[in-house]
Amino acid sequence: MNSSISNNLLDSFQRRVNYLRISMTDRCNLRCRYCAPLIPKQIKKNELLTLEEMYRVVEAGVALGITKVRLTGGEPLCRRGIIDFIKRLGDLPDITDISMTSNGTMVADHARQLKEAGLTRINISLDTLERKKFKWLTGADLFPEVWKGIMSASEWGFAPIKINMVVMKGFNDDEIENMASLAIRFPFHIRFIEYMPIGTDPLAAHASFLPVSEVEAKIRQLVELIPVAGKAADGPALRYHIAHGKGEVGFIGSMSSHFCSSCNRLRLTAAGHLRPCLLSDDQVNVIEPIREGITNKGIEALILETLAKKRKEHQLSFTSGRSLQSSMVSIGG
Ligand code: SAM
Repeated sequence: MNSSISNNLLDSFQRRVNYLRISMTDRCNLRCRYCAPLIPKQIKKNELLTLEEMYRVVEAGVALGITKVRLTGGEPLCRRGIIDFIKRLGDLPDITDISMTSNGTMVADHARQLKEAGLTRINISLDTLERKKFKWLTGADLFPEVWKGIMSASEWGFAPIKINMVVMKGFNDDEIENMASLAIRFPFHIRFIEYMPIGTDPLAAHASFLPVSEVEAKIRQLVELIPVAGKAADGPALRYHIAHGKGEVGFIGSMSSHFCSSCNRLRLTAAGHLRPCLLSDDQVNVIEPIREGITNKGIEALILETLAKKRKEHQLSFTSGRSLQSSMVSIGG
């Protein structure tokens, strides 16, 4: 950690937190069936955190030891002012990494600005390589734009580009090998992600669920996978080089194998709540205290209160019928 200040964010299970994920907005130009509700309950504009308010939370987080920030949503590129926001974050001396998760549809138009503003890394979500299926899943015929976005991000020097695929039985499990093959031809990191019951009926989600162990087995029939050394530094994915390939594949088994013991994150929702975990409805209100004039020290106290709510493991499960009430777009995936 390149920090002049010490990290005070140690939770009750001795996990050191240094990573804040921010949902920049709950707005998105796609309506992915597994993610955003078809009839969106949009947060009213005046109930969204302003960029200045978000910045204050990051500043307070940095004072406690946050060094990494990811901008997500909703679609972060739907948030006006995001380029300047990234520049401001980059000026905070202890921030070493500013990344973004995007649906890719607007990346081609912004890749250069994002790079120049200081965005360090970009993940692009892409669940299918077939244009018709993309349209069915997302409600928009924008597959070519996403592909253009990936290429453009690559041309502007974002590396590695991570491509997130949520694997859904009966929808895109026939594309696992094609998706993995991208990591042979391009220096991309393809991340296969388990479908989580968030904002949906857990039984319906379970019907589409495919454990990453099965995804991995399919890929191993096609190519040899070589474990990436030192992968512990890179979050929850189990990472592999593809023999004779330029890129990597990674498996994120959020449901089949808890990786909570290595969790280093807190989250800030678009509506102004801090959350200890993506997969829990626990939260601490920051928007009201900020609007009532709380000091930065006060925000630090709210961050510590959120940290204290981090549980040992998430409780989400298909079989217990437990799902998450909040939608992914508002928490920030
Ligand atoms: N709009 C951006 C995007 O499309 O990447 C950022 C927000 S999106 C909510 C972030 C990530 O969450 C995407 O990779 C998406 O596929 C993933 N996601 C959404 N709902 C999910 C679910 N039910 N299970 C697993 N991943 C999900």
